[in-house]
Amino acid sequence: MWSEWYEGLQSTAWLFGGAEGLWARAAIGSAGGVTVAILAVRSRSLTRWGAVSAAVMGTGYTALGGLLWFGALLVFFSTSTMLSRWKRKHKRKAEAELLYEKTGARDAGQVWANGGAGLALCAAHAIWPHSGWLYAFIGVMAAVNADTWATELGSLSRVQPVSIRTGRRVPAGTSGGITVAGSAAAAAGALTIGVFAACAALVPGAWSEEGQTGAVLGTIVLTALLGGIAGAFADSYLGATMQAMYRCEGCGKETERLIHCGRPTSVVRGFQWMSNDAVNILSSIAAGAAALGISRLIG
Ligand SMILES: [Zn+2]
Repeated sequence: MWSEWYEGLQSTAWLFGGAEGLWARAAIGSAGGVTVAILAVRSRSLTRWGAVSAAVMGTGYTALGGLLWFGALLVFFSTSTMLSRWKRKHKRKAEAELLYEKTGARDAGQVWANGGAGLALCAAHAIWPHSGWLYAFIGVMAAVNADTWATELGSLSRVQPVSIRTGRRVPAGTSGGITVAGSAAAAAGALTIGVFAACAALVPGAWSEEGQTGAVLGTIVLTALLGGIAGAFADSYLGATMQAMYRCEGCGKETERLIHCGRPTSVVRGFQWMSNDAVNILSSIAAGAAALGISRLIG
């Protein structure tokens, strides 16, 4: 029974990846992408332009990549939306009081910062299929998932975070502040992408090479775990060192915002061009490179 089912899947392999089903998947992907985008705007998870970006991204991931690529994006999007809603009341205070540059609905900048590097790898893999692109992609998605899980769950920690730069305690929500709970959440977020990718790799057509062995599946999971953790730490480090940090002239608090207490803030450290989105893009590229290296070392 199992083998019949698997043979059935093999005859529909074009649906899960590869050049053959590109246009069919583009049609499916745009329908799915637009549906998710409409739901996301209605539930205020995404702004209007954030939703347009997400629909474009969903179509690209499905058409150029397939099951593994779009599925990883969906795992990231759905778990991060759920986690940001979970215990929202406990987080609201930290968000509003501090500092975050952006809160609430994700905008286009955030969507591209999280999914842009993945879409580029998707396109590269469509042009020149090679498992190296897939491993880099798994690292990128593991890192963005790890970072989001760490931010959402770390903000619930009652322990005050420690700066990755100075080792001193910093207010909850500060970029570059790390906690044990946040780090554990990062590892769990990375592992979740790895386990999903390993399951998806078993589906015919979804991985660029056929006949997945236990060693390949193990490499996928370990690459996601280590690449994701590397990316999350790169994110914290860049956030603590290079990201623009401002001080409010009114209340004296450090913030990521350009306006605080109704007046413009002034730079206290970092580069003005290094926004939270820029930090996310750079650390996801670092995660992709780390994942590629790790997969070559252990694969
Ligand atoms: Zn202020």
